[in-house]
Amino acid sequence: MSPPAGFVTRFAPSPTGRLHRGHAFSALTAHDAARAAGGRLNLRIEDIDTARCRPAFAQAIIADLAWLGVTWDEPVVFQSKRQVAYAEALRALRDRGLVYRCFKTRAEAAAASASAPHGPQLAFLGAALPLDEEARRLAAGEAFAWRLSIAAAERELDGFANLAFQDADRGRIRADPWLAGDVILARKDLGVAYHLAAVVDDGASGVTCVIRGEDLREACHVQVLLQALLRLPTPDYRHHPLILGADGKRLAKRDASETIASLRAGGATPERLRAELGL
Ligand code: GLU
Repeated sequence: MSPPAGFVTRFAPSPTGRLHRGHAFSALTAHDAARAAGGRLNLRIEDIDTARCRPAFAQAIIADLAWLGVTWDEPVVFQSKRQVAYAEALRALRDRGLVYRCFKTRAEAAAASASAPHGPQLAFLGAALPLDEEARRLAAGEAFAWRLSIAAAERELDGFANLAFQDADRGRIRADPWLAGDVILARKDLGVAYHLAAVVDDGASGVTCVIRGEDLREACHVQVLLQALLRLPTPDYRHHPLILGADGKRLAKRDASETIASLRAGGATPERLRAELGL
């Protein structure tokens, strides 16, 4: 099936709790953009983390979106059912030597980058283990994650000079994958991780414009790199401000009073909620 032409965006919640006002803003923003452009909206449930995600939350998300008046144009994509596509993408990167096995815990990786000779930095830049040590750890049944090697990616692409994306507020931005470091593409426990799943799915569904909260702005740097490595087109990006609670802090799924369910129980209407959100 070839991806649809024209403007395509998506709303991609993780079903780890009920949607709150911030999600409503995000979903309505993407929905309105798709409708204004005469384009399409996809709904993608990001449920790869089976320990944290619940099918009941996914169903509640779908019901909340329907109440809000958000409609989508393709069958809902559940990432938990897309493991084959993620494994294929990982295999393609593996065959080209762009990923390596990492046996470190997240805490060990953080400690390693803090004590690196080039000074403390946030991003982890590791290296593949010597083959004999890797073989020993594999034989011992130790779990490992697959990390993207930024250095190998830079060699493959002949540098990152051509890596860029269009940001709705900031114009053309050069992507700098070193900011992200050697991100995990496949978690020890899951066989995939957020960036890889998001890029594979955005590509498969022909997304031309990613609309999401500004907390994910930095994710572009690694996602644009993955698109180049997987030969997928780079969409445009639009990051909207986050909706804050009465205390000025960003909303979390645990803020029960801010969920769409409780606003609804308190007599809110979709029209009133839209107006409160400035939409
Ligand atoms: N699942 C992510 C979230 O709920 C969104 C990821 C994305 O839009 O790229 O924050």
